[in-house]
Amino acid sequence: MHTAYHSIYKHPLPENHRFPMAKYELLAGQLKMEGIVEDERWIQPGSIEHDSIRRAHSKSYLETLENGTWSKQEERRSGFPWSPELIAREKTIMEGTRLCGRRAAQGDVALNIAGGTHHACKAHAEGFCLLNDLAISAYDLLSAGLERILIVDLDVHHGNGTADIVGTDPRIFTFSMHGAKNYPQTKPPSTLDIALPDGTGDAEYLRLLEGALDSIFTSFDPQVALYQCGVDVLASDKLGRLSMSINGCAQRDRLVLSACKQSDIGVACAMGGGYSQDISTIVKAHANTFRIARDVWT
Ligand SMILES: [Zn+2]
Repeated sequence: MHTAYHSIYKHPLPENHRFPMAKYELLAGQLKMEGIVEDERWIQPGSIEHDSIRRAHSKSYLETLENGTWSKQEERRSGFPWSPELIAREKTIMEGTRLCGRRAAQGDVALNIAGGTHHACKAHAEGFCLLNDLAISAYDLLSAGLERILIVDLDVHHGNGTADIVGTDPRIFTFSMHGAKNYPQTKPPSTLDIALPDGTGDAEYLRLLEGALDSIFTSFDPQVALYQCGVDVLASDKLGRLSMSINGCAQRDRLVLSACKQSDIGVACAMGGGYSQDISTIVKAHANTFRIARDVWT
């Protein structure tokens, strides 16, 4: 069994996009430089098809997205000024995670160097997320005949968009472990939510995660997993409010990826958030996820 990796295609964006984009370029460079991902394993996805997006998002919302008819309020909520380049980029990221999901359905591990846009709701953009790659990929896998999809969301922010889209669909188990006091203020219920107090450190975090994974794998018996592996859980993160070390974050990834491997299921990873002051810390933590994936799958 071999490992596949997917990269985002680089769409240049106007200068006024405030979202921290530099980490994606640096991460790709780091993975290539260290030989963590060999050249032949990179895949540059195309643009996702409308039908795939439509399974997770409402018709009227997609029309505003395509036509650029956002109100000022909608633009503010998204975090981005609308532009055709922005939409093209988002669709490429969606396709990256969708392809990772298909690869994971074959029992493999595949990672998107971007994605994890878990705040995008069924009918609106939110928190720098326009479309929800996790929900889109989950519904794509259901359309391909799978019956039980697990979404593990360990970004420090609650997966509100994913919960909004999936709701109580019994075919998709949504698990979000996040900072209780962190954005978003309103947190619609996931299948399982674990809300952590400010300052939660490695030992408590890993204990809770291990228990949750045991219980989910036993009760739900997933056929494939999608993993939002945001690194904004680090103590150094400007938005995080938790106290995890970089080593604890790596142990977190190993717990999730090993649980999938031991249950003989594939997993698709999307990078999610990371806002440490020192960008090299962010890149190091994301690169660890790739390193561990390769380690667990060889
Ligand atoms: Zn986050």
